[in-house]
Amino acid sequence: MNTISKAYLVGGGIGSLAAAAFMIRDGNFPGRNISILEAAPVMGGSLDGAGDPALGYSMRGGRMLTTDNYECTWDLYRSIPSLIRADKTVFEETVEFNEAHRSNAMARLVDRRRAKVPVTSMGFSMQDRLELLKLSQTAEESLGASCITDWLSPRFFQTEFWYMWCTTFAFQPWHSAVEFKRYLLRFILEFSRIETLAGVKRTIYNQYDSLVLPLQSWLAAQGVEMIADCRVTNLDHRADGGKFIVTGIQCLRHGLNEVIPVDDGDFVFVQNGSMTDASSLGSMTSAPAQLTKKDSAGWSLWEKLAEGHPEFGNPAAFNSCIAQSCWESFTVTLQDPSFFDEMIRFSGNLPGTGGLVTFKDSNWLMSIVLAFQPHFPNQPAGVQVFWGYALLPDRVGNFIAKPMAECNGAEILRELCGHLRFDSETVESANCIPCRMPYITSMFMPRKPGDRPLPVPLGVKNLAFIGQFVEIAHDVVFTVEYSVRAAQMSVYELLGIERKVPPVTPHDKSLEAEFEALIKAFK
Ligand SMILES: Cc1cc2nc3c(=O)[nH]c(=O)nc-3n(C[C@H](O)[C@H](O)[C@H](O)COP(=O)(O)OP(=O)(O)OC[C@H]3O[C@@H](n4cnc5c(N)ncnc54)[C@H](O)[C@@H]3O)c2cc1C
Repeated sequence: MNTISKAYLVGGGIGSLAAAAFMIRDGNFPGRNISILEAAPVMGGSLDGAGDPALGYSMRGGRMLTTDNYECTWDLYRSIPSLIRADKTVFEETVEFNEAHRSNAMARLVDRRRAKVPVTSMGFSMQDRLELLKLSQTAEESLGASCITDWLSPRFFQTEFWYMWCTTFAFQPWHSAVEFKRYLLRFILEFSRIETLAGVKRTIYNQYDSLVLPLQSWLAAQGVEMIADCRVTNLDHRADGGKFIVTGIQCLRHGLNEVIPVDDGDFVFVQNGSMTDASSLGSMTSAPAQLTKKDSAGWSLWEKLAEGHPEFGNPAAFNSCIAQSCWESFTVTLQDPSFFDEMIRFSGNLPGTGGLVTFKDSNWLMSIVLAFQPHFPNQPAGVQVFWGYALLPDRVGNFIAKPMAECNGAEILRELCGHLRFDSETVESANCIPCRMPYITSMFMPRKPGDRPLPVPLGVKNLAFIGQFVEIAHDVVFTVEYSVRAAQMSVYELLGIERKVPPVTPHDKSLEAEFEALIKAFK
């Protein structure tokens, strides 16, 4: 690499932002030589969050993090200054915040009688335990593209464990057995405290304000160019000595076609696919539009690259069945405290300490989270914001006689108050913005080896992949950590950086023995 090398990052999610930071911090790459090309109007990708009290706040997701895992994420954020706490890093401000506001859910599961379900027992039968052990001990090669239901009997999906595990991590019974096994091992510490979510760490505000903005402002200070409203439509390339070499980036920038030349010594990093692709917002009076990849063109770059290049993976394994990868979230803005007051009385948790409350018998399999307030820096006192989601939006509700997918915000609130037995006055001031995400669990779809490209595929010279759809041994998707890890691996390998990527911990064989002991110990 020389000082005139340039780097182009396709996509402006946390993966690309992290890659730019690793290039600068660990590769001494000049920030002014890095350009990030993002199709959306803002950086941050899935880690969005915006709004105001008048129009209502909205965020597609609310994130749980851990400090026992997330090795690469905290390695990054140990170097990124906080925007709100002078002389602290984002890592330090987050640790300090979580020491002051510890998670200890007291109403993790609520049943159809509005009773808090006792969760000291996981509800396992002997058969469940044996099946879980067998799945956790089967090699990934043998699990292949099988589903969780291929390994666990119907009864397992009625256990308290399953309701807590599937709603904490958004698993469905038809998802990948390999990924489920990876989660059991990667989050082994959460396994033993899943009923209180005691291991979960939160950011001070929503993740756009707490993770994206500090990183983005640090990158801007290093001279990184962040170009919004720029969709990359294809990569020009040539072969040389059997190597795949990118020579140009075709893009649509503010609606105009452009080709950015890629010279010898330059690097290209591509975010292939996005879990929030084709997502859409509704309102109090309208349901979100039902979009697909045909509307968004979000997968087409990966699809074009993978054509005739099996080393670049197989996007069809992930984006071919919306019925298996779709769910809906919603963000509620309240102008009076009665809903929060009722929730505090009912759950026994102050906002920011309870984590998910899941209505386990709800047809939509609905959960809500009351985060610490304010959840947005511009949120005035007296305004409160909470987030919720439902894993089965295609089902008719218990209190609203239609699928969630067809409901507006007012109808979603009516369904929620039905499960809580709260008067409708508690949400009289509410603005509920629903969000449909057709590919939200596309990363969990059953996959075969080779369906995801390696961060730096064999036979490429100047191209790497970053994000949720690359192959990383042992680590788990649907996490910020996976994208940051992919970024760190790609950058270190392509730029030849000597520093080691922090390993996935714990990652050795002793883990399996530990897991076996844990399962046996459970009632
Ligand atoms: C509802 C929800 C809940 C979540 N909960 C958690 C949680 O509890 N814990 C946790 O750790 N993680 C959670 N996550 C996951 C986490 O947010 C994501 O894994 C992470 O943000 C993905 O980042 P990324 O950079 O890989 O991809 P993305 O954020 O998807 O970014 C990819 C970007 O690339 C852009 N792009 C793609 N193709 C092109 C192109 N051709 N040209 C230009 N731009 C392009 C897209 O527009 C997008 O902005 C959650 C996510 C959601 C949505």
